[in-house]
Parts: sequence; C-alpha cells; structure tokens
Amino acid sequence: MSDKPVRVRFAPSPTGPLHMGGVRTALYNYLFAKKNNGTFLIRIEDTDQTRFVPGAQDYIMDALKWCGIMPKEGPGLGGEYGPYVQSERKEMYQPYAERLVQEDKAYYAFDTAEELELMRERAKQMGMPNWQYNHVTRTSLKNSLTLPQDQVEELLANNTPYVIRMKMPRNRDIRFEDIIRGWVTVNTNNLDDKVLFKSDGMPTYHLANIVDDHLMKISHVIRGEEWLPSAPLHVMLYEAFGWDCPHFAHLPLLLRPDGNGKLSKRDGDRLGFPVFPTDWTTAEGELYSGYREKGYHHQAFINMLAFLGWNPGTHQEIFSLDELCEAFTLDRVSKAGAKFDPDKTKWFQQQYLRSTPNEELADQLSEVLEHKYDVSRLTTVCHLMKERATFIQDIATEGAYLLERPTSYDEQTVSKKWKEDTSALMTEWKNNLEALSTFDHDSVENAFKAFLEAKGMGIGAVLPNFRLLITGTGMGPSMFEIAAFLGKEECLERMNQGLTKIEALKNQA
Ligand code: GLU
Repeated sequence: MSDKPVRVRFAPSPTGPLHMGGVRTALYNYLFAKKNNGTFLIRIEDTDQTRFVPGAQDYIMDALKWCGIMPKEGPGLGGEYGPYVQSERKEMYQPYAERLVQEDKAYYAFDTAEELELMRERAKQMGMPNWQYNHVTRTSLKNSLTLPQDQVEELLANNTPYVIRMKMPRNRDIRFEDIIRGWVTVNTNNLDDKVLFKSDGMPTYHLANIVDDHLMKISHVIRGEEWLPSAPLHVMLYEAFGWDCPHFAHLPLLLRPDGNGKLSKRDGDRLGFPVFPTDWTTAEGELYSGYREKGYHHQAFINMLAFLGWNPGTHQEIFSLDELCEAFTLDRVSKAGAKFDPDKTKWFQQQYLRSTPNEELADQLSEVLEHKYDVSRLTTVCHLMKERATFIQDIATEGAYLLERPTSYDEQTVSKKWKEDTSALMTEWKNNLEALSTFDHDSVENAFKAFLEAKGMGIGAVLPNFRLLITGTGMGPSMFEIAAFLGKEECLERMNQGLTKIEALKNQA
C-alpha cells in the first residue's frame, strides 16, 4: 500500500433510488476527503444492464446535492479521469481481462448457462448444495484450461459466447488490513473463479471496479460491509495486475430499529419513516417517501446519518457539515451494525431548529408560506414557535395565529375555562390593556399581574382565556411576547372578535 494523495469515490449502481445507507457511504467518503484535503468523486457503476433503472442516476445526483455533499468529479461535473459512467468506458475493460488470460491469471470459459445449471443440479443431488466454478471443478469444465489450444481458437473465431474467469490460485492465504475491521485473512480455496468479463461484452462489477479505481487513482475504498466478501478477490486482482492496492474501509450495516436485520427499502414506509433522502416514484407509480419531502432539513439528516456508525468520542451531538468534516476519522467508525432510530432522527431535526438562527429559519418559513409575509415578522414567529416545533412546517401551522386572526376557538379550553363571568372579566382586562400607554412584553406582564392582584385571582383563571381570545388555542409560547408581537390595536380587535364569537358558541351550547 502506498501513501498517495487522498482520492475517494462513491460508486453507486443506478438500480433504483439511493437508500439512506448509500447516502451514508457517500457522506463518509465526502467527510474523509474533506478532512484529508482529498478529492471525492462519483462513479456510476452500470455494468449490469439488466438492473438499470431509468432516472436513478439523476435521483442520486439530486439527493447528493440536497445533502450538500456534491462530489468534485463525476458525470456532468468534469474531472480528468472521466468518463465517470462505466457503460461509457465499456471499451476500456476487455484488454485488461485479455491481459490476465495471456498471463495465465484468467481463462476463457465456454460453458453455457444450461450446462452450469445441470452441474449445480447434479451436485445438489449428491449432497453438495453450494456448487462453485473453482480450482477443483474448472478442471472438468469447458474452458481454455481444459480444451486444446486449437479448439479454443476455433471457438473464439466462431464467436462462441464465452466469459473470462479469474483463475483463483490454489491454497493461498490472502491477507489485507481493513481500516475498520483490522486484518482479514481468507484462503483462496474458499473462493470461486469469479467471472470478470461477460458474454454481453461488458465487464463484471469486480473487473470494472478494480480497473477504474486504479485508473482514477483511488487511494481509499470506503464502502458498505456487503462488499467485504468481494475484497479478497479485489486484492487478488490488484496483485494480478501488479497495481498498488488501495486502503479498504468497510462500513457497518444499517439495522432496523429493533436491531433485527438489515434496514431494507421496504422497511421505511412499513415502519413509518423514510429510508430514502428524497421522494422516489417507481415506474409503476409506487411512492417511496423521502426525508426532504417529510420536512427534514438536510443538515439534520446529515447529522443523523453521520452518527449511524460513527461518533466523535465526545458528548457533542450537534454538528454542522463543516464541523463533521473537521471531526471525522475512520478509526472512530464502529464495526458493529448501526441501529437506525427514527425518534433520534426527529430529535436531530428538533435540535437543528433550536440551534439555527431565527433569521435563517425565517427564510425557510417564508418559502413554505410562499413569501406572503414580511420576513422580519417571520423571524419573530420562528423565535416564538421553534421550541415547540420539529419541522419548519410545524411553525407555519402551529404559529398560524401569529400571522392571521384565529377562525376557531379550541373547544376543550372554551368548555373548561370559559365560565359565566369570563366575558365580563375579559372585557375588563381588555379595557386595562387599552389604557396602556406603552405596549411591550414588560408593560403587558406588569398590567396582567396588577389585574390578577386587584381581582384576587390566580393565573389559571385568566391567562388561558386571554390566550383563547388572542390565539384561539389553549397552549403556546408566552402570552406577553405574543401580545407585544401583535401590538395593541391587533390585540384589542382580536379580543373583541373573540368575545363575540365565544359568547355565541356558549349560547349555542
Ligand atoms: N457498485 C457498487 C454498489 O452499488 C459499489 C461497491 C464499491 O464501492 O466498490 O454499491
């Protein structure tokens, strides 16, 4: 292994929308690159044409953009190692596969799918359910190792379909160090002769992945744990080509909230939370929901993802993307699967609202409210409401009365708190407010206290009804702040409107 400049890649296959686990892989690559003054690139691995899903590549790029973790090189982004889509690099791979055949490290195999199926069936009947094309079985199969040279040439000349398989050496220990898992040792006798080049003229994932990582000068391969079983083959391929092997880091799986198994794309909507960054609609019209459309801010989403498998080693939990770039190291990524916690995800979003300046939230709120209100007023709305909200939309809904007069009055509060003498009491309180020469938080509060004292009443008998008249609700932030925000005139008008409407309600009942 060498110490080249840090270049890392995210290499998704466009087989559908990007699962949250995929976004985490991209995020860790991004953070690692930033932390080490390196380059983060994206490469689309679409060699398996049968699994190609239209729209998936755009979805992936759009999701990374929303998350704020755009690669520096990739399709449509430029970079000197392109193209960054494997199907556009198609011509490059065959010579590499041929080279391994020339060097006796790979071979042509002419067995048809039916013949191989038959072998598998027979093996199964003989009590061997896991038949493999390997160093033992290849000696009795139809390949360039068993057939005479002239027959091989004839088959090739006749365009007989073939694949190129890795000639896995016999009984060798492959050892490599994974940054997260430590040393991994696998004996080649347990590995099969993987196909490197397919009969459709395309490389397999394994060959294309190694060739591209080499040509794109990738220094660290950071990817999901599901690729760990492929790593020994990859190490063998680097060795076969005589190339430097990149460093490996296999990230822990994302598990279901109950820790029972891998978090799959179907789990999300079934268990009531999204598993995708943004909405995805399948060709059949089926919708998989996304965090963006559910109202999450990308910063909260990223913060939550960063903690699925990593921790900073301190008590700090709230991080901006820049802070994550600063704090991130691979040696603090855990081996154990990371349990996804939907409540904690909401908590991150709440914390995001709480720690974000009101001016910034006001811009987002303005967007939600289609720019109908003055942004400086929205800044105060955010200040008043954000402690009680999770999403910016909550501020819009629950703080609606700060922007428009109430159209209804919370029935429960009316029936519990509005007594026979409340109208008279509230009219008196309204008159006191009217008499105030300054109308701010403190003056309203002082007047309120004086009123309670004069009446010999407790807060509970007066405040809920005052709130009801002004906001139509039974709960919320400080009434004195709300009154100061609305101003005297608006408060008085709301009280008049409320008195009339609640009286009418009472009379109806
Ligand atoms: N194309 C593989 C995937 O879809 C990439 C694996 C790797 O990063 O090597 O996840």
